[in-house]
Amino acid sequence: MTDNTPQNSPTPLVPLTLLGLGDMGTALARTWLAAGHPLTVWNRTAAKAEALAAEGAVVAASPAEAVAANRLVVVCLLDDASVGSALDGADLTGKDLVNLTTGTPAEGRARAAWAKARGARFADGGIMATPTMIGAPESGGYVFYSGSRALFDTHRAALEVPAGARFVGEDPGHAALHDVALLSAMTGLFAGISHAYALIEGEDIAPKDLSPLLSEWLGAMGFFVGNAAERLTSRDFTTGVESNLAMQVAASGTLLRTAEDQGVSAELISPYLDLMRRRLTADPAAHGGEDTVGAITMLKR
Ligand code: NDP
Repeated sequence: MTDNTPQNSPTPLVPLTLLGLGDMGTALARTWLAAGHPLTVWNRTAAKAEALAAEGAVVAASPAEAVAANRLVVVCLLDDASVGSALDGADLTGKDLVNLTTGTPAEGRARAAWAKARGARFADGGIMATPTMIGAPESGGYVFYSGSRALFDTHRAALEVPAGARFVGEDPGHAALHDVALLSAMTGLFAGISHAYALIEGEDIAPKDLSPLLSEWLGAMGFFVGNAAERLTSRDFTTGVESNLAMQVAASGTLLRTAEDQGVSAELISPYLDLMRRRLTADPAAHGGEDTVGAITMLKR
């Protein structure tokens, strides 16, 4: 007897709901549609859903209707306040709510408690990508997730469609904390790069000529990331130091005088130089031979 049962029938893709069709939400939506996930969308300004409807999305008339359509509900709105107002009145009982709206760790924790009180499982997400990096695995973009591990495990395949997914723990504030830590580091990096370009403005040095030198130098200095992690773990700030704090503080005078001579404000670099000086003057004998990593311990209030 012949068995005609299909042996490899494809598993149906998880249907999901997405609230928010701004630049990021629209990019997310397109990847799920392209992958074949049934998708229900809602956006405050309904016109933004029209193009997606033509691509196969079901457009809900209200957040409550969109939430009711599927168990997995992804939210990507402007800020935490807009999440609260959009979901106000939606029945979240039994839902799996994934919040990809940027927020603080405290907002992530509060939103998790809010969702739990309404009968939903919750995971918060921090998107480490721009819209053009969504659906483009080669771009290296990904999303931090934290909160319900069970939710993450249940929906991992769907969540990995727009970008890689990195689960960073059950504390719902930790996705935002990782997100903000990386963005804060980027802010300092951008500040330093901005100062460097300001220094050469008006000189016979083309920005495009400084550019590869800056990239190469910042790459070489990337060792600081691992060095800081090791020293903060061991609390050993003095063994094997090559560029000690006393020397760095002395050298910072050159940075500041050059900025002055070039007519450039030192506002982007002076806070870090001030921190190093405070660490040194607090106890020159104890801290002069340290790695600059020791100055990090002065920041915690
Ligand atoms: P946009 O400004 O393009 O879109 C904002 C979205 O929020 C729109 O859908 C808007 O609706 C909606 N919205 C704003 N206020 C309200 C409200 N009170 N009630 C209901 N809906 C509201 O932002 P993005 O799409 O770029 O960003 C969305 C989230 O993704 C943000 O938290 C952002 O920080 C995060 N993100 C964005 C990145 C990026 O590069 N764009 C990178 C990483 C994270 P409407 O269309 O009606 O205005």
